[in-house]
Amino acid sequence: MKIGVLALQGAFLEHEKMLEALNVDYFEIRQLKDLNQEFDGLIIPGGESTVQGKLLKELGMFDIIRKKIADGMPVYGTCAGLILLADKIANDDRAHLQTMNIVAKRNAYGRQLGSFSVMATFADKGEVPMVFIRAPYVESAGDNVEILAVVEDKIVAARQENQLVTAFHPELTEDLTVHKYFIDMVAK
Ligand code: GLN
Repeated sequence: MKIGVLALQGAFLEHEKMLEALNVDYFEIRQLKDLNQEFDGLIIPGGESTVQGKLLKELGMFDIIRKKIADGMPVYGTCAGLILLADKIANDDRAHLQTMNIVAKRNAYGRQLGSFSVMATFADKGEVPMVFIRAPYVESAGDNVEILAVVEDKIVAARQENQLVTAFHPELTEDLTVHKYFIDMVAK
């Protein structure tokens, strides 16, 4: 198994550390030619969705990645990655890959709550530490979307078939639960 980590901007190194801890092969996707190699799953890191969306277009990767996801490649988007996958952004005219049937709300927790950390239940895996940094949440989700975590009545993790998103950053903790969940998705 090999995972491509989108490495245009943001917290991609932290995801790579998680994959190393799980003994999973990965490589960085930095330019168009990196997409020529075969890979089984994709991670879109946190950072700035606007910047990443723009770079995906400028580097000619946008349509190829969009098609891979639409064709069933497993993808895990954290934070900005969640925003990039969302069909709509509630408080922004832009939308990016639009492969997932969710409406994302950007910078959704306001200034004071810009960053915080909680323990909460993820899927059927028990409690995991969840670190939020100027995070979005999922404002609404289609019927085909499975809700995996809720914090303060807001959806913060969800899955639609091959697509997994979290508003929080497991890669900034030592907890491998969410990455393991994703790797299991890729393995199936
Ligand atoms: N607020 C960022 C955005 O809109 C996401 C923040 C993050 O990825 N930590 O892209």
